[in-house]
Amino acid sequence: MRYISTRGQAPALSFEEVVLTGMASDGGLYVPETVPQLSHEELADMAGCSYAEIAFRVMKPYVGGEIDDETFRGIVRDAYSTFSHDAVVPLNQLDANHFLLELFHGPTLAFKDVALQLLGRLLDHFLAKRSERAVIMGATSGDTGSAAIEGCRHCDNLDIFILHPHERVSEVQRRQMTSVLADNVFNIAIEGNFDDAQAMVKASFADQSFLNGTRLVAVNSINWARIMAQIVYYVASAVALGAPHRKVSFCVPSANFGNVFAGYMAYRMGLPVERFVIATNANDILHRTLADNDFSKQELVATLAPSMDIVVSSNFERLLFEAYQRDGKAVAELLERFQEQPSVLAEAPLARLREVFASHSVDDATILEVIREAHQRTQEILDPHTATGYRAAERERGDEAVPMVTLATAHPAKFAEAVVKAGFPGVPLPPHMDDLLEREERYAVLPAELSAVQAFVAENRR
Ligand SMILES: *Cc1c(COP(=O)(O)O)cnc(C)c1O
Repeated sequence: MRYISTRGQAPALSFEEVVLTGMASDGGLYVPETVPQLSHEELADMAGCSYAEIAFRVMKPYVGGEIDDETFRGIVRDAYSTFSHDAVVPLNQLDANHFLLELFHGPTLAFKDVALQLLGRLLDHFLAKRSERAVIMGATSGDTGSAAIEGCRHCDNLDIFILHPHERVSEVQRRQMTSVLADNVFNIAIEGNFDDAQAMVKASFADQSFLNGTRLVAVNSINWARIMAQIVYYVASAVALGAPHRKVSFCVPSANFGNVFAGYMAYRMGLPVERFVIATNANDILHRTLADNDFSKQELVATLAPSMDIVVSSNFERLLFEAYQRDGKAVAELLERFQEQPSVLAEAPLARLREVFASHSVDDATILEVIREAHQRTQEILDPHTATGYRAAERERGDEAVPMVTLATAHPAKFAEAVVKAGFPGVPLPPHMDDLLEREERYAVLPAELSAVQAFVAENRR
């Protein structure tokens, strides 16, 4: 399998190269050159298979023989053995035909574990094969940092440095990162805000000379392997609900668009999907674009669903590439214009998107209302991100005979603020984490200065 850039100028890469690479050199994102197909028979044969087996079968064509089958099966099995539920991503039926797909049974209680448990192991595999080491740097205001740390803590060939704004992340989120005491894990609390941390990571990628030639790897959601890993749960849940004999709809709480784009890939591979409902919080660029063709940036709003607080959805570019029928030049022009000024999509590409995507935006007051309402109706306490999905799924349901699967992207214990605001006493952490607040922590506090951060990384990497 070869991978090409959404802007059409960067060289095509192999799977191994694309896992080790972030953004394409032309500013685009990598996508597979062709979309592998899952036949009716192949889908039907997955009924009753374990999650790891379905994962192996769905991802195998993307790996394209670059890892032998037995090794890849082992990597996949190992990655998903870290989940606390035997089904890995269980379906929970809410009412006659509405299901929650619980993606929060991984080590950090949010769906990002599904991708990062695999990505860490894939990186380690390829680095070992090349006898290379690499450094991961990332900035986080929450979910991604802890999921990346958990994904890399056992990797011999990787050192991971995660920057978070000092005293500006919740205690649970900080402790999920800082209580991982592995030798290759380094948490840095920056005396500044998230943007300061992010800017220092960006500057480090732009000029990597402080690492003397060691590879710097990004694990943010533009890495293709993260999308690939997420395709699996769309297939697995649809098969559990009767695919390929029956269609399914999905509702996805969305921000950078990595999650729902993976669903779209499953659809393009042949999974019978009726529609995708995109749920956003008040940061609603995706909803404005689909509903009103208003493709423009707006001020960031801090919401009760903070992991969906974004101005621009980086992975939307991958969908635009498909909507523009893989015309990289048109995508590059659109996105360059968009950086400067409010833009619109051309008519035909927008019409193509509206054939399979609906959208709905949910504000903070509604998130609280939904948490109360859903509890009354179903006894479930939803996390605030999942709450946006629950409401969007109701509003954009479409054909009621088609099962609707809402993706539960986080465990409610992780976002206690919203749950308490909604009037509940809070939700206990699951048993394997109930001592989190007593665990030993380790992190360095550094000034918001690039030279201090880079010196720390250069000194501590192994
Ligand atoms: C990251 C995240 C999202 C948004 O996912 P995208 O792939 O960026 O669209 C939604 N909910 C939770 C809990 C998250 O951590």
